[in-house]
Amino acid sequence: MQPLKIYNTLSREKEIFKALHAPLVGLYVCGPTVYNYAHLGNVRTFTSFDILYRYLTHIGYKVRYVRNITDVGHLVGDGDEGEDKIGKMAKLEKLEPMEIVHRYTNDFHQVLSTFNLLPPSIEPTATGHIVEQIETSKNLLEKGLAYESNGSIYFDIEAYNKQGGDYGKLSGRVLDDLLTETRDLDGVGEKRSPLDFALWKKASPEHIMRWPSPWGDGFPGWHLECTCMSHKYLGDTFDIHGGGMDLKFPHHECEIAQAKGAYGRAPVQYWMHTNMLTVNGQKMSKSLGNSFLPNELISGNHPLLEQAYSPMTVRFFMLQSQYRSTLDFSNDALKAAQKGYKRIANGMRNIKRMQYPAGIVSQPDEKQTAEIQAAIQGCYDGMNDDLNTAVTIAHLFTLLKKINQLYTGSLAFDQLSEETFQALKSTYITILEDVLGIRVELPENWESLTEGFLSLYKGFKEARKYDKVDEIRATFKSMGLLIKDMKDSIDWGFEE
Ligand code: AMP
Ligand code: ZN
Repeated sequence: MQPLKIYNTLSREKEIFKALHAPLVGLYVCGPTVYNYAHLGNVRTFTSFDILYRYLTHIGYKVRYVRNITDVGHLVGDGDEGEDKIGKMAKLEKLEPMEIVHRYTNDFHQVLSTFNLLPPSIEPTATGHIVEQIETSKNLLEKGLAYESNGSIYFDIEAYNKQGGDYGKLSGRVLDDLLTETRDLDGVGEKRSPLDFALWKKASPEHIMRWPSPWGDGFPGWHLECTCMSHKYLGDTFDIHGGGMDLKFPHHECEIAQAKGAYGRAPVQYWMHTNMLTVNGQKMSKSLGNSFLPNELISGNHPLLEQAYSPMTVRFFMLQSQYRSTLDFSNDALKAAQKGYKRIANGMRNIKRMQYPAGIVSQPDEKQTAEIQAAIQGCYDGMNDDLNTAVTIAHLFTLLKKINQLYTGSLAFDQLSEETFQALKSTYITILEDVLGIRVELPENWESLTEGFLSLYKGFKEARKYDKVDEIRATFKSMGLLIKDMKDSIDWGFEE
């Protein structure tokens, strides 16, 4: 089997993944700033890392997955000036900042669980790590890599680069270009250079979120929390750090500088960045007004939506492209994903109910066996090639074709050895459920309920009460389900 390869933003190459302390893997992903409802773009990024977490676990690693909650320090405009995003919302809504944080953290959890994302192992908050952030600021001050200015502490990029730092390497920025770009836009103010960034900011009298520090009342800079929390839970150097592409610069660049400065070594082996969910080619974002909330998608209640889409349809849609490509939202693409998902879900229901018949003597068909083995291999090759879920799904459709043939009888069980059948069954189920996190969406007790209806249906059919038969068919159809009259049995499936 191919080894797992991951595209590392730092080297700009796909690299074979080697865990620092196998079977343990340390994974850190920048979490949300909880000042507003999570939109579908956010869900795409976290789904990509959910796949990474699930796949690493599936292939035997024990992953400590840390995903933070930013509940202080992220300022409007992502820079060092301006209001705190959470503080601003608290003022607007006349609530405590922690009420804002709690409301949107709850929403975030609920949204991610709707889309079947696994919770991380640790979910630390920035406000829970103020002490660590003050300590790291002190550490950087002692090393001459930071300076105090008017009650705020700034990271000194020139000093860092003089001491062997490589600010700009991750994002491929050249320092001189950055300086010319930023000089006009952002006044130097109390900083020595416009590129320097805040580790700790002095709180103005009206600033609500504030903590005492050796430099007076203040609050931490946005980039510092991730350095402190990843260091605390994953150590000086850990395996994988992830986030959306828009966080590469300055957020992740600053994280590297802080960690190298404070702890003397590069913090991360593999940097992974996910591409954006776009709408008509534009990044989905709250500020552009082109974002959907998950509830709007599920209810279909949004001017850009032609119909409602279920959570698993949306998850399936996202996984049909690899995480490093942009993914453009459109009703047509989602409708196609809905069709594909229903076919996949029918296959899942069917293969789960299929058993290899006892006592048959198989005469394995070589061509069928080879096709199944190649598709199984293809599922793993896709995942191992930098989590190319699009390739994996294409191979799942080949497996689905075989499942459908077994279901309708056009492929006989004795054409497959029991071993091949079991491999087909377990690969289809585990890749879908465990690795891709795709499940069949059915209300609880649905199977036994429909069983009852189908037996009524059968009775009406035998009694030739066709008006009743049609009524039951119509009821199923209104729920997107199709009754299937087969040679020796009656079944239902999702209408594809
Ligand atoms: P935020 O709460 O704005 O800090 O964003 C949380 C995460 O969602 C970050 O990793 C962002 O990179 C990511 N994100 C924001 N917008 C999009 C988008 N349109 N597509 C994919 N990821 C996004
Ligand atoms: Zn971060």
